[in-house]
Amino acid sequence: MELIEQLTRFGIDPQSYLLLKAGLKPVIRTEVGQSIIPFSEKISRYSKIFILVKRFDEYYDLELTEPLFYAYTSLSEELSYDTYEADMNQDRKKLGKLLGYPDCCVDYYLKEMVKVSIERIIGPLLNTKTKPSFYCNSIFNFDSKVDGWDKIFLKGYEICRLFLIRHMPCSFDCKESIKIGKKTLELLERELPELAKEIVSALKRPVLYFDYFNWIVFDGEVQNNELQYKQVLPYKSLFPKDKLNIIKQGNRLEVLDDKILISKDDKLISNIDKEDKYKGVLIDFL
Ligand SMILES: [Zn+2]
Repeated sequence: MELIEQLTRFGIDPQSYLLLKAGLKPVIRTEVGQSIIPFSEKISRYSKIFILVKRFDEYYDLELTEPLFYAYTSLSEELSYDTYEADMNQDRKKLGKLLGYPDCCVDYYLKEMVKVSIERIIGPLLNTKTKPSFYCNSIFNFDSKVDGWDKIFLKGYEICRLFLIRHMPCSFDCKESIKIGKKTLELLERELPELAKEIVSALKRPVLYFDYFNWIVFDGEVQNNELQYKQVLPYKSLFPKDKLNIIKQGNRLEVLDDKILISKDDKLISNIDKEDKYKGVLIDFL
C-alpha cells in the first residue's frame, strides 16, 4: 500500500502530505481513533515519517464515548513533540507556525477566536482588498465535527478534499496564503494531476455564500452584484432543495442587501429573502 494511502488512515490529506514531503509544512496534526495507533509505528519504521499519537480528551475534560487522539506527523521527531507541547501549553501562535500557517492568518484567527462564533468566510471576505483568489477558497474545508459536517460527509459528497490551503485565511487575497496555495497546486499537478484539475475546477468559481453549511457554486460570470450563470454545479451543501430548484430554473441572479432576485432570460422568475446582508453574498473566486 502506498504511503500516501496509508496516511489517509490518519486523516492526512494528500495536500498536507505533499507539503510535508517538500519541507514546506513542518507538522500535520489530525484527529485519530484508537485503532490506528499500531500503524503509526509501522509507518515510522519503513518511511522517514514520524507520527506521534497522544490522547487528548482527558486533557480537555471532554466526555466522549471513545477516547480522542491527536496524531502529530512530521519528518522530525522533535518537531512532532514541539507541536504536542504547543498544544498542551495552548500556545496557539507557536502551534500555527509549526503547522505551517502564515503569521497574518494565525494572528487573525486568534483575534477572531474570542468571538462567540467564528465566521470563516465573511470576515476574510470583508478583509479582502483586491479580488478573492481561488487559492484561498476555503468553503469546502470542514474541520469542525458538528452536525452539518457529518450530514454533508455522510451523504458521500467528496467535497472536503477540495482545497489548496488548509487554514482559515485572514483574507481571500492574503499573499502568504496564495503562496502556499500555489505551491500546493504545483505539487499536486506533479504528483496527482487528476486531483489538481478537480480542485481548480471546484475552487475557481463564483459562489453564493450563506453560511458555513449553505452555499451554491456556479458555472458563471459575476459583474458587480450580478451573476450570469450556465448552471449550478454539483458541489452540494445543505442549502434547501426547494430554493435551489428555483435558482436552477434561472440564469441570472441579482444580489441585494435584503433579497436575491432570480431571472431567466431577463424575465424575473422569483426572489429569495435574505435573513441579513451577509447571508447570501456573491464571492467570485478568480
Ligand atoms: Zn494571512
